[in-house]
Amino acid sequence: MTYDKNSANATEFISDEEITATLQYAEENKNNFELIDSILKKAKPVSKGDKTYCKGLSHREASVLLACEDKEVLNKIYNLASEIKHAFYGNRIVIFAPLYLSNYCVNGCVYCPYHAKNKTIPRKKLTQEEIKQEVIALQDMGHKRLALETGEDPVNNPIEYVLDSIKTIYSIKHKNGAIRRVNVNIAATTIENYKKLKEAGIGTYILFQETYHKESYEKLHPTGPKHNYAYHTEAMDRAMTAGIDDVGLGVLFGLERYKYEFAGLLMHAEHLESKFGVGPHTISVPRIKKADDIDPSAFDNGIDDEIFKKITALIRISVPYTGIIISTRESEKIRKELLELGVSQISGASRTSVGGYTESIRPSDTEQFDVSDKRTLDEVVNWLMDLGYLPSFCTACYSSGRTGDRFMDLCKTGQIQNCCQPNAIMTLKEFLVDYATQNTKASGEKLIKEEIKAIDNQKVKEAVEKYLKRIENGERNFKF
Ligand code: SAM
Repeated sequence: MTYDKNSANATEFISDEEITATLQYAEENKNNFELIDSILKKAKPVSKGDKTYCKGLSHREASVLLACEDKEVLNKIYNLASEIKHAFYGNRIVIFAPLYLSNYCVNGCVYCPYHAKNKTIPRKKLTQEEIKQEVIALQDMGHKRLALETGEDPVNNPIEYVLDSIKTIYSIKHKNGAIRRVNVNIAATTIENYKKLKEAGIGTYILFQETYHKESYEKLHPTGPKHNYAYHTEAMDRAMTAGIDDVGLGVLFGLERYKYEFAGLLMHAEHLESKFGVGPHTISVPRIKKADDIDPSAFDNGIDDEIFKKITALIRISVPYTGIIISTRESEKIRKELLELGVSQISGASRTSVGGYTESIRPSDTEQFDVSDKRTLDEVVNWLMDLGYLPSFCTACYSSGRTGDRFMDLCKTGQIQNCCQPNAIMTLKEFLVDYATQNTKASGEKLIKEEIKAIDNQKVKEAVEKYLKRIENGERNFKF
């Protein structure tokens, strides 16, 4: 199929021909150091006044960097990724948790334990009362943003069930707790249903492509509605047409050759940016994990930690304004390394089983995948601060209507920091007052003092200090 990034047709905006040509071009140029230097130069942030700009890279340019095996170039990529991360995201790391509503599923995804033919996994769907209990447990840890997850099953998990669940989640105010942003990761659906999700007040609509390779996609999804490659790949177009302007992309690394996936992922981002004027709000980088009746070694394309780090750094360089998400599929060690290279959002204290948060011992029978990082939220927050990061529970952009192109315009010039930094400080303060252990509280208060010192704008600084006092006195949810 001829490549056309503005096409509405999946096989044209993710053209196999173009990806194949890109991989060949990358292979031919992987030792063309003159070209590589010019690509790295193009990706560098440029400051004009108090604004910072980054051009990003095209899928062809980024693929050349991915193909290059030179150590020195790799170091340059890492340094640049780190520089861009600091320019656009400062030291903030946004924290969220997944909430599994139901593992009923009619699809046949061969890598996922929820697949319809799996008879060993107990099937479970939360009632609204059970959702309430899960949300209370999540609020009691300190969570403010969730990612909803369900299998695809029009009978057990119809859109009405998801909408009711969102309503329930937003309605629960337990002690000082509140879930202020609900992101949704459910199967590809219709424009009409995306409109309903938008009306229900969702944050980001997340849908992993799993693989961009059409033939492999069809083999990996042999049965069920998810088998339809075009319907799945064009889902973000329908979501955006329906008015959802924050969408989250992702590839499940391990299913196909990573170079192919990487080019496809960037082409998808370029397509959205070009067609809708807004690139992906987030990009997730999951790798296949062991799960009930799933053995990751059965997949031939697993990537090691070094390649994984390189891919993450290159996503940061190529799509500089996007949020990069890493989940608890990954260990503490690899999460630490990826934070340096561009990750801006992480999940904490996740339980991937349906109803997992209300159990006193972590259940594994209905888990979607093995969790590597099993620390509590307090431990994750403390660890982030130890590493020099500012943990953020902020949802202000969303509640102030700074989504889609409004968010991107601010983010692209680095201006978002002027509100994000103070908002991160205030939401961390809420966490410290309401949920933190003594040790975390002491580190957090010290960090907040340093962060306030770093605020240049005197008026903002004074306002933050005033709000922090009011948070101590019991008020909540201030924002810039
Ligand atoms: N059912 C929805 C769909 O079809 O898109 C989305 C929810 S699913 C619960 C979330 C994601 O988990 C999937 O898109 C897939 O990439 C990932 N996943 C499935 N099995 C996995 C495994 N064994 N290891 C790691 N991630 C997995």
